[in-house]
Amino acid sequence: MPRMNRERDRSFPPRRLPGGARSVAVAVALAAGLTAGASGGEPVPSPESHLGFRPGADYRLATWGDVASYFGKVDRASERVLVRTLGETTEGRPYLVAFVSSPETIRDLERYRSFQETLADPRKLPNAEAERKAVAGGKPVVAITCSIHSSETASTLMAMELVHGLASGVDPQTREILDGTILMLVPSANPDGVDKVARWYERSKGHPWEGAGMPELYHKYAGHDTNRDWFMLNLKETRLLSRLLYKEWFPTLLYDVHQMGSRGARIFVPPFYDPVNPNLDPRLSQGIFLIGAHMANDLAAAGKKGVLYGAQYDNWWNGGNRTTPQRHNIIAVLTEAASVKMATPVFLDKEDLKAGARGFPDHRRAVNFVDPWPGGWWRLRDIVDDELICARSLLTLAARYRESFQTNLLAMARDAVRVGTEAPPYGWVVPREQRDPGEAAALVRVLHDSGVEVRRSLEPFEVSGVRFPAGTWVFPAAQPYRAHLKDMMERQNYPTRLSANGKAEAPYDVTGWTLPLQMGVRVVEATEPLRVKTEKVDRVAAPAGEIDRDDVSGEPAFYSIEETANDDFIVLNALQAAGVNVSRVVAGDRERLEGAELSLGELVVPAGAKTRAVFDQWLPKVSTRVEAHGPAEERVATPDRPHGQPGPASPATVPHTGIRTDPIRPVRVAVYQPWVPSIDEGWTRLVLENFKFPYTTVHNAEVRSGAIRSFDVLLIPSVETKTLKDGYGEDETEPAYVGGLGPEGEAEVRRFVREGGRLVCLDASCDYAIETLNLPVRDVLKGLPTSVFYGPGSILRASVTGGHELARGVPDEVFVYFDGSRAFELTGQGQGRVVVSYARSDPLESGWLLGPAKLEGKAALVDIPFGRGSVVLFGFPPQHRGQTHGTYRLLFNALVD
Ligand SMILES: [Zn+2]
Repeated sequence: MPRMNRERDRSFPPRRLPGGARSVAVAVALAAGLTAGASGGEPVPSPESHLGFRPGADYRLATWGDVASYFGKVDRASERVLVRTLGETTEGRPYLVAFVSSPETIRDLERYRSFQETLADPRKLPNAEAERKAVAGGKPVVAITCSIHSSETASTLMAMELVHGLASGVDPQTREILDGTILMLVPSANPDGVDKVARWYERSKGHPWEGAGMPELYHKYAGHDTNRDWFMLNLKETRLLSRLLYKEWFPTLLYDVHQMGSRGARIFVPPFYDPVNPNLDPRLSQGIFLIGAHMANDLAAAGKKGVLYGAQYDNWWNGGNRTTPQRHNIIAVLTEAASVKMATPVFLDKEDLKAGARGFPDHRRAVNFVDPWPGGWWRLRDIVDDELICARSLLTLAARYRESFQTNLLAMARDAVRVGTEAPPYGWVVPREQRDPGEAAALVRVLHDSGVEVRRSLEPFEVSGVRFPAGTWVFPAAQPYRAHLKDMMERQNYPTRLSANGKAEAPYDVTGWTLPLQMGVRVVEATEPLRVKTEKVDRVAAPAGEIDRDDVSGEPAFYSIEETANDDFIVLNALQAAGVNVSRVVAGDRERLEGAELSLGELVVPAGAKTRAVFDQWLPKVSTRVEAHGPAEERVATPDRPHGQPGPASPATVPHTGIRTDPIRPVRVAVYQPWVPSIDEGWTRLVLENFKFPYTTVHNAEVRSGAIRSFDVLLIPSVETKTLKDGYGEDETEPAYVGGLGPEGEAEVRRFVREGGRLVCLDASCDYAIETLNLPVRDVLKGLPTSVFYGPGSILRASVTGGHELARGVPDEVFVYFDGSRAFELTGQGQGRVVVSYARSDPLESGWLLGPAKLEGKAALVDIPFGRGSVVLFGFPPQHRGQTHGTYRLLFNALVD
């Protein structure tokens, strides 16, 4: 179970505060001049009394401390509200959810939770009578999640008003909501960002950049991609909420509250635009329609203008906090309100108002935009008002259509189980025998963490002509979350969509995400019904690393690591951090290598106390396979290195055996961080930290001053050339953060490489390197119109050239992510090597690729010598959103000696 509120015990069924403690809260509230609420005469403090301003007031934002303490006060004052702390955020703040319903329901939450659990998995209901009771007995659970995008500031303030209104209101609508629903209110899905944005906003006030110009991501690693993590669960925040949604509470409806740009519609409500993903149950789409219509109706009734629907936002992609819940039978929606500048109002003339999105060609009256807003002042309070109307509209609808929504929840789950038994695919098998067994376990784990049922075979069995042993992971398609499972396992086939002018119509987000391809894991689809005895897996354990001692009787002389698993880098990094001198087999004839049971490229690790300590610490947690070698075996020689850092004694004890190893020098890695926040930079840091790579963040100043020369590698994440060169302009942020690398930075980057450094560029930053260093490389896709070529977030097949150090331990064929990325041609004679190329025919594996011939056979990863150093150009993102584990090794190889 998640962590309970640390202030006091919050176990289910909840225990209410003893009377004494509550009267303290009452006294505090009364002293603060608060009016008495209506929940049994308890006074519920208003947000205004707590904050000192009304939520949505111009120029005012709340910190997370203000928000959390307010929810604590409401929890103490109201019998209608129970606040739980689910756990800690990335930076250690409490992640909160407030349950709101009638006092009787709040006192009996576990009973309602168990109704939800059985409706979400009707296999737990023995017969029609039990189903009827579960539908009739429960209440629709409605999750509302606020400010996952922290610069979209209104919804957290809205949440304070919403909880206050429901905790204290005596009006019929409030009664109806409390009696008919259970609200699960998440005041922010990224509490860290609430503080980051509020603090920056205060600092920016009164300056030309007021409400803009932040020099850091508003989530430590993900920035705006906090809402791109819902199937991969890289972030603490997504893991906490996923557990609540898919393993504990199984809500009926979900509303994720967003803001968009300032100049379009005032608010977008569902339904969404085409295309719709084929894995979505039709009842889900119709439920979305119903919710949007009800919201639009309530907005119109309140006199709100500028409401748009059926435009802009499609319903194809998986990975956001509306689209992933939809694959869990939750009718999930978002709204997008026009933004202000954090809390500073904006004034828009009629001429300032724009359109141009799909289904919204002009800012004029249309069937899906019936009442355009005429322009004028637009304030934070306007957004709070609109969102409050939408939230209450959803809750009212849920209360009124209570039985219909609960029946649909049950029916969607039941149908998912039925279809999984009646038609292929019947399931998926994940063999234990894998090139990288740790990644196979990671794939199984992320699906399991998203509520997908995982089973383990209890006997050997056969699928599609392949035989598997007992203990193999099996995902039966016949399960309530079949849509999510299938959507993650299958290849996406995004429909070709062109606008009237022949240009590609941009999708909302990426178009392909097939998990086995992204992670480089072998999965077998069952096209025939699965016939094997299985048991449910409650905990997915990664295969622990081990030391193979088969050929060693006594104490080993040294160890070797074959290097195919991503986890091997964790072990290598830990060994190097401990000062162990790891080396690599670089030469030796076949006979001698076989005699020593070694192969080229393998890591050689000397035995000793430090090695022992690292293995003891890490092997239980990673899947690295280590082989022990006895003293009697053929020895391995390490010649002195002509340059680089001298290392301690190597495992070589007898020189001149014909097997040569080179010590692996610890590499000093600098990761460039622009002041214009880069999400790709954040993900890069997360991936490096997960695999224990030591690195140092450098900014413009360290590059411009030449301080980067104390590093071996400069890694520039995917950042546009203009941002790299110029950064923020004057008056766009504080003076300390203005500017980019500039001419001095360019000169230093050039000098860094010329003097022996390795520059590693990811995707967009390749443009900068090609231009700045005048490299003999051409991006053949540059400037092509989208009518000719387009690849918006797809998975492509590519082949790897063996023998290059960047290809160490990488299979001959890899699946690379391509998101408006690059394809290279080398233009200089013999200058540079191609390490990875896009497949020569039909490279598309998942998603959408228009004009594939443009990149077929072209280079995706090249290594270009420059002076005494080199430039590594990744034309694709090898670490995309922390999802593409299958291409991590290519990046990691670029960061080791
Ligand atoms: Zn948003």
